[in-house]
Amino acid sequence: LAASRVEAPIGPGKLADGTDIPLLANIGRPSDIADALLRGAEGVGLFRTEFMFLGTETAPTVAEQQEQYRTVFAAFGGKKVTVRTLDAGSDKPLAFLSTGHEENPALGLRGIRATRAHEEILRDQLTAIAAAAAETDADVQVMAPMVADAAETEYFVTLARSLGIPVAGVMAEVPSCALVAGQVLGIADFVSIGTNDLTQYTLAADRLLGSVAAYQDPWHPAVLRLVKLLGDAGIQSGRPVGVCGEAAADPMLAVVLVGLGATSLSMAPSALADVRTELRQHTLEHARALAVRALDAASAAEARAVVRD
Ligand code: PEP
Ligand code: MG
Repeated sequence: LAASRVEAPIGPGKLADGTDIPLLANIGRPSDIADALLRGAEGVGLFRTEFMFLGTETAPTVAEQQEQYRTVFAAFGGKKVTVRTLDAGSDKPLAFLSTGHEENPALGLRGIRATRAHEEILRDQLTAIAAAAAETDADVQVMAPMVADAAETEYFVTLARSLGIPVAGVMAEVPSCALVAGQVLGIADFVSIGTNDLTQYTLAADRLLGSVAAYQDPWHPAVLRLVKLLGDAGIQSGRPVGVCGEAAADPMLAVVLVGLGATSLSMAPSALADVRTELRQHTLEHARALAVRALDAASAAEARAVVRD
């Protein structure tokens, strides 16, 4: 990328009162690294590992995975890299984790459910991540997708630690996870909110279906109330609660998410500059006041309108 295409300012994510809100990148493969670094990502908040294996028929070996992960970790030396374990199923089918036809794949054996059913694949992946992390000085942590509750959190965190990864969290993208946020954060080291799926499941609208696309709006106060449950549990437990769904890339919504308790935001690298600029115009107190107004709105459109005004 030509430097001239990168919009200023580059620098850490901060509110007007100096509160740090680290701005991280969502990446899917090693080729995304350069863009993230050039645009000033302070680390990786979501490494979608399944993107590297979408065309693969057989499960990748530990050695194959280790090599790919090492490339990413080495590029972010000294920085946080949050690796999501394979999120297979529904919109991201993986041949080697496929479970055959499902009537409603978004409600099927996907995310942690699929890798738990094939635990050897999850073990191999965590082993490869631990080995690659040991070869670099990146600050590597793992998280599992589609975790529903505290019991699933316990399963994943225990497995990750037993395989040499000390910092393990979960994605909150199923409403049940938000409803028991306190229990989940009693176990997980951190939570990262996946607003794309959280919106899909809260509004019961398939995120791939054009006819219900209007429901896929993370400004909906019902989604924001679930984010608040997670944010409040983060404050209570003293553990980080980030957001890595598309919502974090909308500058005004990013401010609201911070007001609801988000401690970091992860997004497509192209969104970093605008979110960075917007955050610097608001104090935490102001972000919280905007969040209260959005929570009280009667619709996504009204929440957006009251905050923009
Ligand atoms: C999400 O659901 O918000 C998320 C970040 O994960 P993905 O978009 O990869 O499902
Ligand atoms: Mg998701």
